[in-house]
Amino acid sequence: MRFSQAFVPTEKEAPKDAVLPSHIYLTRAGFIAQVASGLYNYLPLGKRVLKKIEAVINEEMAHAGAQEVELSFVTPAELWEESGRIEKFGKELLRFKDRKENLFVLGPTHEEMMVNLVRNRVTSYKQLPLNLYQIKTKFRDEARPRFGLMRAREFVMKDGYSFHASTEDLDREFAAMEAAYKRILERLGLDFRIVEADSGAIGGSGSKELMVIADSGEDTLAVCDTCEYGANIEAARRGERRTVPEAPEADFNKFETPDVKSIGELAAFFHVDPYYTLKAVAKRAVYEDGDEVVVFFLRGSDELQEVKAVNAAGALDLVDVGEEELVALGLVPGFIGPLDLEGVRMIFDEDVRDAKQMICGANEKDAHFVGVDLSVLPKQTQYAELYEVKAGDACPQCGGELTFTKGIEVGHIFKLGTVYSAPLKAEFLNENGKAEPFVMGTYGMGVSRLVAAVIEQHHDDRGCIWTKTTAPYLVNIMVSNVKDEAQMELGEELYAALRAAGVETMIDDRRERFGFKMKDAELIGFPLTVIIGKELANGNIQLYDRAAGEKTDVPAAEAYTRITEWIG
Ligand code: ATP
Ligand code: MG
Repeated sequence: MRFSQAFVPTEKEAPKDAVLPSHIYLTRAGFIAQVASGLYNYLPLGKRVLKKIEAVINEEMAHAGAQEVELSFVTPAELWEESGRIEKFGKELLRFKDRKENLFVLGPTHEEMMVNLVRNRVTSYKQLPLNLYQIKTKFRDEARPRFGLMRAREFVMKDGYSFHASTEDLDREFAAMEAAYKRILERLGLDFRIVEADSGAIGGSGSKELMVIADSGEDTLAVCDTCEYGANIEAARRGERRTVPEAPEADFNKFETPDVKSIGELAAFFHVDPYYTLKAVAKRAVYEDGDEVVVFFLRGSDELQEVKAVNAAGALDLVDVGEEELVALGLVPGFIGPLDLEGVRMIFDEDVRDAKQMICGANEKDAHFVGVDLSVLPKQTQYAELYEVKAGDACPQCGGELTFTKGIEVGHIFKLGTVYSAPLKAEFLNENGKAEPFVMGTYGMGVSRLVAAVIEQHHDDRGCIWTKTTAPYLVNIMVSNVKDEAQMELGEELYAALRAAGVETMIDDRRERFGFKMKDAELIGFPLTVIIGKELANGNIQLYDRAAGEKTDVPAAEAYTRITEWIG
């Protein structure tokens, strides 16, 4: 491409609301242009990067035996009613009616559509397994679209769905998809981690996220410093404690504890480790058909993990409750305990099951119980994992130490089982001629988010630094002075030779000053810029490696060989 003819409207100023490097540089370098909140146009450079990423995905999917399809973006709302997701998805679903008053939604994900495509077309176990995917626009009316392509409303997703006759076969395909996703991210040149993820209300252990490691990531990951274990903090577990604090020794008793409300105050008052105090966290759980206050109990040394709590309650969301609301329910804020507490739903962290020597609120003002043995709780008590891991906790796999890092979720793979196939009655006949719902997996990848993720991981204060596989053009030939015949001639010669060799090349033939063109080259982030300038009179040119930040003098006669060597 000739820069003089390219549509690359670079800008000096960043968009006002842009805080992330990817948002700032992709806009300033003319890859994307915002249309409205969460809506973007892809300009030629942006479209090229998008297609690069798509090509890698397509190759790896073909290699893994998945078949590409393309489903309608506009999807009938009926399908969403059939699966029961129309309410759950809430306002993220953009609904509208056509001229005949039929209700539709813009596809935010395509489980229902894919199940609908396959049901009654695949009818026998002999036609299984099947893995279908597409790379397609999605629309989610996100509550807070932000960070440019990272959290847009309209975005591009690779979404794949697999159909199986058994869970064993799903496990095999899930592993194959995990391996394929790993190869995709490796080929894109990204530093990433595959972590255990929250499986939402569906439960089960078969949910993994692919996280690109970046400080700007919205997700917090707990990773082991010794083994491969990594998990989203929403799902992270810990191993056995290395040491358990010394237990207090007290007979069951009620104590006056005037104004002792917080865990810190309570532990200090009784001179015990917060480990032996029982923390009560009250939240309003919002369900599809109503809401209620739920009290979560866990050790004072732990914090409540909200996503775990949402799952344990089977709620859509948890919201804070005011003290007056608690009082109206007969609760005593600061002194809530599980003994004789009635009329309110309680959920306990697994870690307090049968715990001894605990100190907890007595459900009356200024009073706590000590020496509490929680094995007195009734049999039907609900226990769940509620705690949030902390840095320094033991790894659940190897006992190593957990530390935190930030990640950008670029992919999510999930064992669905029959969660969609059962309600949508998508069935096949098994070997015994009996009808069974398909066992399914789903595999999502954020294609447009990946464009941003590459830059979050690869940039500096001058702009983008594309990896070799993601760059819009691999080589940029910078002719410093286009009026200089010798410079222009060498530039054209290299441009023709590289293009003939299939190297994606830009030639900067604009009648602009060198400094101006160099700024653009840095901002756009071409991996290699060939600088043909004044030094050509002495027989030399320069190769500028954007990632390494290094300029190397090269004899002009060797230019082509040295460029192809660099490409490798
Ligand atoms: P998030 O937690 O970031 O909202 P999600 O759990 O809603 O993601 P999935 O439904 O699993 O995401 O979608 C699959 C992939 O699509 C995600 O891993 C992510 O890379 C991408 N994705 C999801 N929402 C957006 C968005 N608003 N903009 C860009 N990419 C997105
Ligand atoms: Mg989301």
